[in-house]
Amino acid sequence: MRIDVITIFPEYLEPLGVSLLGKAQERGLLQVHVHDLREWTTDAHRTVDDTPYGGGPGMVMKPEPWGRALDTVAPPDAVPQPRLIVPTPSGRLFTQEVAIELAKEPWLVFACGRYEGIDRRVIEEAGTRMRVDELSIGDYVLAGGEVAVLVIVEAVGRLLPGVLGNADSVADDSFAPGPMANLLEGPVYTKPANWRGREVPPILLSGHHAQIARWRRDQALRRTAERRPDLIERLDPALLDEHDRAL
Ligand code: SAM
Repeated sequence: MRIDVITIFPEYLEPLGVSLLGKAQERGLLQVHVHDLREWTTDAHRTVDDTPYGGGPGMVMKPEPWGRALDTVAPPDAVPQPRLIVPTPSGRLFTQEVAIELAKEPWLVFACGRYEGIDRRVIEEAGTRMRVDELSIGDYVLAGGEVAVLVIVEAVGRLLPGVLGNADSVADDSFAPGPMANLLEGPVYTKPANWRGREVPPILLSGHHAQIARWRRDQALRRTAERRPDLIERLDPALLDEHDRAL
């Protein structure tokens, strides 16, 4: 997958070169290119913002640098066109389902807003030639889109084939599709079996795989019911067995 990020703070994206995603880039599974929006300004002050039409507080990102940046990073004659992701608190909520959808794309371009956001016409114009997704990472307001891009790229990147050492761990994750769809993952343990007088649940030491799977599912259901009853309401009844319903 190729990822381009356009931002006025390229250094904010440096963590993408670390850990799992850094290794994915070294192995050629992911290519990340970060661009400074100010490269596409034409004045001495490298201005990217201006006062909002209609008045009000704050500044708005100017359309000209954004238009030139997008035309350079994703030329209008490029085939195929990338999918443009615009982080914004007013976007569709970014979930694991959206991450799975984006992980299928060959090329994503991210446009990081700052101030009061990007002039609306930039998003409208881009939408005439590429698919545009405005995504929110939650119901709160960040100072800029860069942290949202880190969140989205990490969630998408770890789903790319070959990025995780053990692909099965994705299937067991919270929100993973399949039999555990929409469930939170239950508690996890490692050695030693007794730590400060606290025992690991004996079933996990039994070596009985079917019973362990059953125990994990029970724990996931209980935890989800306690912490996210909204997710329980959205469970597909067809995926629940007798044992689940008795819990
Ligand atoms: N005035 C905007 C509003 O109320 O919707 C908020 C602008 S915010 C200060 C600046 C930038 O941060 C946004 O353009 C967006 O790129 C990013 N941002 C802030 N909160 C976000 C969120 N919850 N999800 C995704 N991006 C966010």
